[in-house]
Amino acid sequence: MMVRSYIGLGSNLGDSEQILREAVEKLATLGSVQVSSLYQSPPMGPQDQPHYLNAVVRLDTMLEPLPLLDQLQQFEQDAGRVRLRRWGERTLDLDLLIYGHEQIQNERLTVPHIGILDRDFVIIPLLDLDAHLQLNGHSLKDLELVQQANLTVIADQSWATA
Ligand code: ATP
Ligand code: MG
Ligand code: MG
Repeated sequence: MMVRSYIGLGSNLGDSEQILREAVEKLATLGSVQVSSLYQSPPMGPQDQPHYLNAVVRLDTMLEPLPLLDQLQQFEQDAGRVRLRRWGERTLDLDLLIYGHEQIQNERLTVPHIGILDRDFVIIPLLDLDAHLQLNGHSLKDLELVQQANLTVIADQSWATA
């Protein structure tokens, strides 16, 4: 069955824009994709690291959640991701934010992703893709965080395909 999922992309090491473009290309092999605008955001966690580039991809896919996570982790490895410290610098982070209406809780996967409602760099790009998106009964556009977002738009929604 085809499921609508949303993937959060982040990078703050290497040529981040190029890394994110390649990530979008790889995601496009898993189904059909739409891409948010491209944003720059201050780091979460350790502050002694470069700012991030972030985006969200909407992916309509036939893959089940765990095989999808396997693919996301493979793409992170392909981009040379090394785990240095929690919320530390990385070439590529791919998080499964939303998978249809499913609630998933196991050793490898929590869906919806645990951080969504607290992260402007996730909420704002999600709203690019779906202005009326709801999560657990919250309309994302009504979150306080939307008014207080600390993000810079780097490029419009054509950034990954232009
Ligand atoms: P955060 O999850 O807070 O954004 P992070 O992305 O830096 O932090 P990672 O090091 O990328 O964390 O992932 C740690 C583990 O999180 C992975 O091994 C994965 O199994 C698990 N995980 C749980 N839920 C998810 C999810 N929805 N998407 C991606 N990974 C998840
Ligand atoms: Mg993450
Ligand atoms: Mg992650």
